[in-house]
Amino acid sequence: MLINKKGMLLVLSGPSGAGKGTLYSRLLQEDGDMHFSVSYTTRAPRPGEVDGKDYYFVTEEAFREMLDKDGFLEHAEVHGHFYGTPREPVIKQLEAGNSVMLDIDPQGALQVMASMPDCVSVFILPPSFAELRRRLEGRGTEKQEDVERRLRNARGEVALKDKYQYLVVNDKVDEAFSRLKTIVEAEKLRSTRYFPVVDEE
Ligand code: ADP
Ligand code: 5GP
Repeated sequence: MLINKKGMLLVLSGPSGAGKGTLYSRLLQEDGDMHFSVSYTTRAPRPGEVDGKDYYFVTEEAFREMLDKDGFLEHAEVHGHFYGTPREPVIKQLEAGNSVMLDIDPQGALQVMASMPDCVSVFILPPSFAELRRRLEGRGTEKQEDVERRLRNARGEVALKDKYQYLVVNDKVDEAFSRLKTIVEAEKLRSTRYFPVVDEE
C-alpha cells in the first residue's frame, strides 16, 4: 500500500524541571520519523551540553542578527536569556514530510500556534510544585538563584496550560511517556496528515 504523509509540528512546553527533556529524548529514540528542532540560546551551556545538538549557544549580538534577518519562527526571553527556533530547518523538515518537535516556552508556543495553526501542542505538568523543586534541585544544573527564578516563573507558565490541545502530567515517567506517545501516534493518523492509497488488489 502506498502511504503519503504530511509532517507534523509538535510543540512541547512545561515549566523547567517538569520532564520535557526526559520525555522527548525517549520519543526521539523510539520514533525515527521525529526530528528535534535545535534552538538558538544566549544562555551558557550546562556541563555535557553540546553546541549544535542541544542548542546553538550564541552571543546576544549573533541572536539579534538572526532576529534582524527574520530567521526565527518564534523567539522569547525566558528566565533572563533569549531563546529562538530557527525557521529554515523546521520548514525544510516539514516540507520533506518529516515530523518536527519544538521544546519551547509558552510565549514562543503561542507565536507558533498563531503562525502554524495545524501544529500539535502539548503541555507537560509536574504533579506538584514541591516535586518540581525536588527535580530542579536534583538535576543540579542551575545555581540556586536560577532554580528560584525558574520556580517563580513556573506558576505563570502553568497558568497558560489551557492554551494547549493536550495536557500530560509527568508523575511516573513510563505513564507520562505512554500518554505522550499515544497523542503523537493518533495525531499522525489524522486524515489531514495521513494519505494511504487503497490498492486495487
Ligand atoms: P525539563 O526538560 O522539563 O526541564 P528534565 O527532563 O530535565 O526537565 O527533568 C528534570 C529532572 O527531573 C531530571 O533530573 C529528570 O531526570 C527528573 N525527572 C523527569 N521526569 C521525572 C519523573 N517522572 N519522576 C522523577 N524525576 C523525573
Ligand atoms: P533551558 O534553559 O532549561 O534549556 O530552557 C528554559 C526554557 O526555555 C524552557 O521552558 C524551554 O522550553 C524554553 N526554550 C528552549 N528553547 C526555546 C526556543 O527556541 N524558544 C522559546 N520560546 N523557548 C525555548
